[in-house]
Amino acid sequence: MRMADGDTTVAHSARMYDYVLGGTDNYPPDREAAEEALRVWPGLWTSMRVNRAVMRRMAHWLAAEAGMRQFLDLGSGIPTSPNLHEVVRRTAPGARVVYVDNDPVVLAHSRALLPDSPPGGTACVEADLRDPAALFAAPGLRDTLDLSRPVGVTAIAVLQFVEDAAGLLAQLVEPLAPGSFLALTTATAELARGSAALAEVYARRGVPMHLRSRTEVAALLPARCELVEPGIVPMQHWRPEDGAEPVGTEESNMFAGVARLR
Ligand code: SAH
Repeated sequence: MRMADGDTTVAHSARMYDYVLGGTDNYPPDREAAEEALRVWPGLWTSMRVNRAVMRRMAHWLAAEAGMRQFLDLGSGIPTSPNLHEVVRRTAPGARVVYVDNDPVVLAHSRALLPDSPPGGTACVEADLRDPAALFAAPGLRDTLDLSRPVGVTAIAVLQFVEDAAGLLAQLVEPLAPGSFLALTTATAELARGSAALAEVYARRGVPMHLRSRTEVAALLPARCELVEPGIVPMQHWRPEDGAEPVGTEESNMFAGVARLR
């Protein structure tokens, strides 16, 4: 079964995620699916928050340490505060940010929640990341990003919903200038034991989830990629803040990594 994108009569990953994070942009099928997911793996509650936290650390690192001034967030989801543009603009007020998602409901919420400041500085693009040619041709992307200069690309908690993620990333980095960065988090069965049961619930609800080992996650990276320290690690270990709350082994189901493009 393939769910219809934007159909609110079936569960959708973005709105299940929104529900678990305490948001209001979700519908009964999303809530039922999310409640079932939490029953089979209660660690999901913490894991989603840990994922948002690593997204913010990566975004900050890309702006502050890697000097990125343009960002492309793939599978951006329903915004939570602070979202990526707010994080990077603390370091670089003029940073340009393109959010991409293929769910019209996500897009409607993103457009309502994201101010267009500075003018032209943010765009919300409805596109499927499995079609990179259409994605890079989208006017919102072309008008906002200068692809002759480096871009910080983030694919946070989305590649587990894509089957041929390696082939896709190879195409996605193709138009990017050397010195661009790729940051990702993606689901695995190698950390929390409940992760496999969670994937079954998602699949049964029409959202197939591809779990990958650390080796498989490393193999997703295109040849131009050079991992930065600390490599591919459980997401809570990616450059944690001093004094960060410890995360239990049953509370994280994703690997995280950032790579620089040659
Ligand atoms: N990146 C956010 C949201 C993760 S939820 C975060 O980590 O907090 C996954 C998001 O990816 C959802 O919003 C879903 O709509 C989007 N998504 C899934 N498959 C996609 C695809 N093929 N193209 C674009 N977006 C996709």
